[in-house]
Amino acid sequence: MHGISLALTLSMAAHGWGGGHPVIRERAISCLPQWQQEMIQQAEVSLVTDCAALQDQHAGGTRPDLDAYCKPEGATVSLHDVNPVPASTIAMRWYLQRIGETVRAGDMTEAVRYMGVLCHWVEDTGSMSLHCTEGFINEAYLRELIPPPGDKRARHYLYAASGISDTGRYDLPAEEDHVPVLLGRTIEEAALHLQRRQRLQAQAARQVIIPFVMDEMHGDGTVAARLRGQLVSNATRTSADALYTALCLATDRIEGETAHLEELLLTDVVSDYRGGKTSAPWRWTPFLLDGCFDQRRNILPLELPGEDGPQTFEHGVGMGVPFTLGWTFGPGGVYSRLVATVGLHPASAEGTSAIFAVLVNGEEVACTAPMAPGDAAQVIEAALPAEGDAIEIKLQTRLPEGASGDNCFTVWGSPRLVK
Ligand SMILES: [Zn+2]
Repeated sequence: MHGISLALTLSMAAHGWGGGHPVIRERAISCLPQWQQEMIQQAEVSLVTDCAALQDQHAGGTRPDLDAYCKPEGATVSLHDVNPVPASTIAMRWYLQRIGETVRAGDMTEAVRYMGVLCHWVEDTGSMSLHCTEGFINEAYLRELIPPPGDKRARHYLYAASGISDTGRYDLPAEEDHVPVLLGRTIEEAALHLQRRQRLQAQAARQVIIPFVMDEMHGDGTVAARLRGQLVSNATRTSADALYTALCLATDRIEGETAHLEELLLTDVVSDYRGGKTSAPWRWTPFLLDGCFDQRRNILPLELPGEDGPQTFEHGVGMGVPFTLGWTFGPGGVYSRLVATVGLHPASAEGTSAIFAVLVNGEEVACTAPMAPGDAAQVIEAALPAEGDAIEIKLQTRLPEGASGDNCFTVWGSPRLVK
C-alpha cells in the first residue's frame, strides 16, 4: 500500500521532466568554471541526483524535513511553474540569499539543496509540459487540434507521467557548448534576469508544443527527440547561468563582462499580452515584434522619419491604434528609466495620427502630442520606481479626437530599460 501511494505522489509531482533533471543538471555543472565545480563537489549530497527533484518529493506532504528548502519566506509559489512576478521576485531573491548565507557559513551541503530546488524550478518551466503552457493551451484543446491515433489514446500530451513530454529520448550533442553568463551583480539584478529567463524558457517550450505533439502522435519521434534535446539545452544554459551567478554572488567574485546588464530591450522580455483587438489591418494581430504592417498587410522593417532621413530599428514594436501592450518584471531599482523612439511608420495612411503614452504601475508617466505621418521621430522617456517587487510598464497608443486608427502604423523603436 505504501509503495502505491508513493508512486502516485511521485507521478503527481513529476509533470515536467521525467529523467530530464539529472541530465540537465550534469550538463549545466560541466559548463561552470573549475572553482565552482569544486565547491559543488564539497557537498555531501549530489546536486545532480540527490537534489534533482526535492520539490517533487516535498509535494506529497510526507516530507516535512524538506519544508526548509521548498517554502521560500514571504511568498507562496509553485516551484514547478512560472508564477506572478511579485511572488517570483521574493522567492528567487530568497533562494539566492540562502545560497549566499550557507556558502559563507561553509555549509556546501545545505547550499546545494537550495541550488537543487532553484534549478528544478527553472528547469520544469522549460519542459514541453503543462509547466510551460501559462494558459496559452491545455491538454483538451491540444487533443482537439491534434487527435491521438487509436493506439496512443491513453498517452498524456502535457503530463510527463505516462505521457510523451519526457520519454528520455534526447537528440543533443554530447556536451553543452556554453560559457555561463552572469545574470546580475546584485541579488536584485539576478532575481530580475533569472525570472526573465524563466519566462523566455517557458515561451520557447510552448513554441515547440505543436510540432512536438504532431511527431509523437503521428510521426516516428525523431522530430520530438530533436526538439526535446533543444529544450534540454535551453534548460541547461539557464541552470548553468543560475548556478554560476548564485556562486559568484555568494563568494563576491564577479568576473568577466557585465556590459550586457546595462540595458534591457523590452523585446527580450515576454510581454503580458493575452488578447485584444484594434484598428485595421491590426484587427487580429494588434502588434508585431521587430516589424510593422503596411496597408496591404505586408510585414516591413521598423522605420521612422528622422531629422536626417529615415532611421530603422532592428528591435521594437509595431502597433495599431488604440492599443496597450504591457510587460511586468521585478524588482524595482534595477533599471531607472524606460527609453524608446516613437512615431508613425512611413507606410501609414495620410490623415491618421496617434498619441504615444507610457504607463507605469497604472499611472501615466509620459505622453507625446499627436504625431502624424512624416513627423520626425521623438524620444519618449519614463522614470521607473526604485522599489517594489514588481513593476508593470504599458506602452499605449491613443487616437487623437476625431482621428481614424485605420492604416495607422505606430512604431516603438528600441524600447529599453536603462540604468
Ligand atoms: Zn517539478
